Amino acid sequence: MNQFFTQRRDRLLTYQAMREGRITSTRRKACPGCGAESSALDWSRNKQVCPRCGYHSPIGAYYRLSMILDPGSFQELEEKLEPADPLDFPGYADKLQGLERDTGLKDAAVAALGQVQRHKAVFVVLDGRFLMGSMGTAVGEKVTRAAEYAQRHKLPLIIFAASGGARMQEGIFSLMQMAKTAAAITRFQEKGGLYISCLTHPTTGGVTASFASLGDIMLSEPGALIGFAGPRVIEQTIGEKLPEGFQRAEYLLDHGFLDQIVPRDQWRHVLSQLLALHEKGGRA
Ligand SMILES: [Zn+2]
Repeated sequence: MNQFFTQRRDRLLTYQAMREGRITSTRRKACPGCGAESSALDWSRNKQVCPRCGYHSPIGAYYRLSMILDPGSFQELEEKLEPADPLDFPGYADKLQGLERDTGLKDAAVAALGQVQRHKAVFVVLDGRFLMGSMGTAVGEKVTRAAEYAQRHKLPLIIFAASGGARMQEGIFSLMQMAKTAAAITRFQEKGGLYISCLTHPTTGGVTASFASLGDIMLSEPGALIGFAGPRVIEQTIGEKLPEGFQRAEYLLDHGFLDQIVPRDQWRHVLSQLLALHEKGGRA
């Protein structure tokens, strides 16, 4: 029954996008993974995963939540939280305004209360369209408040990361968010809270080096680039060629950094299973 509703909702989202002219069967998009061209309609029907090679294209935060949560269970948290410009960085305020207009987001993170197959949890989803999902004061504060909310209400915390790292325009204030979010997650975990970290392409820099790597359970989408510095920087620093697939989800799974790789259409199933198991205290 649940699958029936999910399929119907996916169809409705596609029809809505077609009506608004955002996708058509004639507009074509080349896959960054294999180079093959598919119609925007096929990309949309396939949840922005390449129908040929399975490349997982980055997607927006609200769209991801709509794919994962039970219909009608979405309740946004901290939606009024505004980004700050503590350094008065040239052009930053205008950039923020433009991005808000283009994406409908105030900053790069959306927090929400929701249910997956009737299991309740607190969610934070980073959105790469907003300054590459970088973490400034607003993103750090939202992650922190979500962890505190989950702790107060004894709910699991699920974060989908997608980030270029700390936000340059907020300087040291953005680096401070690394310690702040890591401390909030640790407090939450010490009280027995379950934190599931879901990494998507790409997750890098200060976000990898803080809350994104602290999950009790570490999951990722296939092919996601996950690391601190990029491969070119590392190669130049150590003066050596890196192994094939280094910093990709599959490599990190083989080396124990991840627990499982989850294809996009499996998130609902995998998360609901984990949440059900957790509610039963590990008893099947
Ligand atoms: Zn492809």
